[in-house]
Amino acid sequence: MAALDGLPPLRDVIARHGLDAKKSLGQNFLLDLNLTQKVARTAGSLEGATVFEIGPGPGGLTRAILALGAEKVIAVERDARCLPALAEIEAHYPGRLEVIEGDALKTDFEALAAGKPVKIIANLPYNVGTQLLVNWLLPRQWPPFWSSLTLMFQKEVGQRIVAREDDNHYGRLGVLCGWRTEAHMAFDIPPQAFTPPPKVTSTVVHLEPRQTPLPCDPDKLERVTTAAFGQRRKMLRQSVKSIGGEALLARAEIDPQRRAETLSVEEFCRIANLL
Ligand code: SAM
Repeated sequence: MAALDGLPPLRDVIARHGLDAKKSLGQNFLLDLNLTQKVARTAGSLEGATVFEIGPGPGGLTRAILALGAEKVIAVERDARCLPALAEIEAHYPGRLEVIEGDALKTDFEALAAGKPVKIIANLPYNVGTQLLVNWLLPRQWPPFWSSLTLMFQKEVGQRIVAREDDNHYGRLGVLCGWRTEAHMAFDIPPQAFTPPPKVTSTVVHLEPRQTPLPCDPDKLERVTTAAFGQRRKMLRQSVKSIGGEALLARAEIDPQRRAETLSVEEFCRIANLL
């Protein structure tokens, strides 16, 4: 497809730099620049923004973020083969793209932000994405260093992120996301939009931090949800036995016969605050 930014089509970039997709790095590239723009637009206005992009690969999403006006993009990519392709984008947008070769799971994003508000946008392998999301939701200090997260996941993970009580997808991730963020699924992307196509449908999830989430200690909340959802089909009196059982539930005024998936985020916080 013809590129609106004057840079060569992504298919040519991939061929020229020999970027055959590596399964071990979860490489499924988005080559349709209309779609990458749609993903980037989900983050809201990027005019003048600082954006962290994780896993830019050959740079399709990076190009969209820059074309939509981001003042600065800092991109962390693990695959050194992608760096020459990204250098071409850097040359096209002087001073606006900085690429860091490294593992996003070992990157200190808060230090990189250096006190500036940042938007985070990423199309990552889902296991890396989920781990990063959890890391970004757990800091003691809140609101966090980021002002929004726009992340692509396999659809089933997206459903777990936005799920609330009485939903089959509700679990630890839904409680954590519901506690500290407003999260919604923006749109799905079918497998055939990627090169090579993954096995499942993907979805773009957008999260914004709640400014005043219910007061709660993240470690304690994790302890409660790990116990409760560890045996999600059992009654709470059984599943939370190891952390206080019926006595704890009585103090929280929660019926011990209920199951984890019926508890609201507020009720999980109430139990956690009694630990
Ligand atoms: N953003 C590109 C796109 O949308 O076409 C590439 C997406 S591809 C699904 C995932 C990218 O993340 C690959 O470029 C891969 O090399 C990179 N990646 C995988 N694991 C990573 C990690 N731990 N840290 C940084 N980048 C990683």
